[in-house]
Amino acid sequence: MILRGREEKKPFSAKVDVAIVGSGAGGAVVAETLAKCGLSVIVIEEGGHYTQPEYGTFRPSYTFRRMAREAGLSAALGLGDTPLISLLAGKAVGGSSILTGGVCFRIPEQFLMEWTRDLHIPRVSPEALAPMFEEVEQAISVETVPIDMRSRATELFVEGAAKMGIKMKPLRRNTTGCKGAGRCNFGCPHGAKMSVDLSYLPAAQRHGTVILSDALVDRVDTSGGVARGVRGRFLDEAGEPGVPFEVRAKIVVVACGSMHTPVLLKNSGLGGHNIGRHLTLHPAVRVGALFDEAVNGWDGAMQSAFSDHYLDDGITLNGVYAPVNVLAAAFPGVGRAHKALVHQMPNLGFFGAMVHDEGGGTVRRGLGREPVITYRMAARDKTRLLRSITILGKMAFAAGAKEVFAPVFGMPTLKSVAELEALEASPPKAHKIECLAFHPLGSAKMSAREDDGVVSPTGETWSVKNLFVGDGSVLPTSIGVNSQLPIMAMALRTAKGIADDWKRYAAVAR
Ligand SMILES: Cc1cc2nc3c(=O)[nH]c(=O)nc-3n(C[C@H](O)[C@H](O)[C@H](O)COP(=O)(O)OP(=O)(O)OC[C@H]3O[C@@H](n4cnc5c(N)ncnc54)[C@H](O)[C@@H]3O)c2cc1C
Ligand code: SF4
Repeated sequence: MILRGREEKKPFSAKVDVAIVGSGAGGAVVAETLAKCGLSVIVIEEGGHYTQPEYGTFRPSYTFRRMAREAGLSAALGLGDTPLISLLAGKAVGGSSILTGGVCFRIPEQFLMEWTRDLHIPRVSPEALAPMFEEVEQAISVETVPIDMRSRATELFVEGAAKMGIKMKPLRRNTTGCKGAGRCNFGCPHGAKMSVDLSYLPAAQRHGTVILSDALVDRVDTSGGVARGVRGRFLDEAGEPGVPFEVRAKIVVVACGSMHTPVLLKNSGLGGHNIGRHLTLHPAVRVGALFDEAVNGWDGAMQSAFSDHYLDDGITLNGVYAPVNVLAAAFPGVGRAHKALVHQMPNLGFFGAMVHDEGGGTVRRGLGREPVITYRMAARDKTRLLRSITILGKMAFAAGAKEVFAPVFGMPTLKSVAELEALEASPPKAHKIECLAFHPLGSAKMSAREDDGVVSPTGETWSVKNLFVGDGSVLPTSIGVNSQLPIMAMALRTAKGIADDWKRYAAVAR
């Protein structure tokens, strides 16, 4: 059952076993897992509820206005020699999972070994997490993107990579019957992408879970050091707070995403000194290339190939594209120069890269609803970002590109490898780099010792009993690969732990 807050005229209250705040990748997995065990579950989501046939027909700008945080205009403010980093996150029943490119990675073993050996976190070894990954992969239909779903643009980047000795591999995505419509980031029009609104949430509802949409939780209630429930207000059509609601629960799971979990915990007077610190982002860049032939980047799956060739150097290469109307808006130049580029759209291909970063970000409460996010990029990561641009540019030239568009504001197109190398040799100020991030992680991180993090290895906060965090903010380090599957596997691990120990938690709640 879904109760739409914007239609509610009277105060609402309920008493359940588990209250989950946030219906994204993490929250949805926790909901389904616990509901399946027979617990009564309510999921409370600030964003609205849109069915797949509804959002499948939205224009991209409308999708972002209705279903993305700050209409897609959130950003991390750069401190020191750091670019402004555009941040994207979802705000809807289904959270960010509706906006993903569908790309699915397991956490690379080297990070799991670091968590196990150096950070001493139990049950996160590759062997321990493998069953979690398998279960989630099945539930969201993770499949390998067939080679014939690559656009000519992706084929050319792959050919260029091969000439440089860089091995490309097919990506895996959570799709079934993907038609290559290329607008995954705005909600799949065919219902082919198995985001949690089409997978975990309906399954949770079949087990009795109630979802409240348009419902902003502004406080976790505690007494005697134990979580007792949450309270907040329903939001009207304009997003303004209206009638109040209150949910009493034996366990509260906060799954608001890495940008908002710290805000809710801080607003509730909880969390300790680590809350909001250690935020990692996977800063990303994308490089464009102009070819003689039509490469129709919009053909096939939006993302279809990747390379972990440079993973040990902290760089992952990932195929990217976006609907042409969105790309055109991001092209450099004005007037005739811009028009000329738009006319060359069929000949333009793109490829991206992201950096496995140190935790240089901080989430603080802002004056209004949205947090203030700052990020200080480590010198090492800026070097990685520039190296990524050079690698991608070289791949494009090796594949026969005439010109390369480096993501540096105000920079003319590059016509040779020598020009690319000159860019890396005398790097621009960071604020000139066009940088994006889709994977905020780690702002309520898991730690083996109370002093080092916000949640213990079970996902329960160190400071309050029966209060758990079940989203990307628990990841103790960045992981160098796309985050949805890792978050879901970690959320499943937490939920199974709650289910296994339910009697103890229920006793604490008495
Ligand atoms: C455009 C885009 C493309 C991406 N592509 C990929 C990809 O291809 N592959 C991949 O692996 N990852 C991708 N990601 C990243 C991935 O989507 C996220 O890492 C993951 O979905 C985050 O899950 P989460 O549970 O931490 O948070 P979210 O899914 O963001 O869910 C948090 C939810 O909590 C709600 N909330 C916040 N505060 C409150 C409150 N106080 N009260 C009630 N509700 C609240 C929010 O509205 C939101 O719906 C992409 C992300 C974006 C934005
Ligand atoms: S490529 Fe198209 S059909 Fe496939 S998942 Fe993305 S939007 Fe859906």
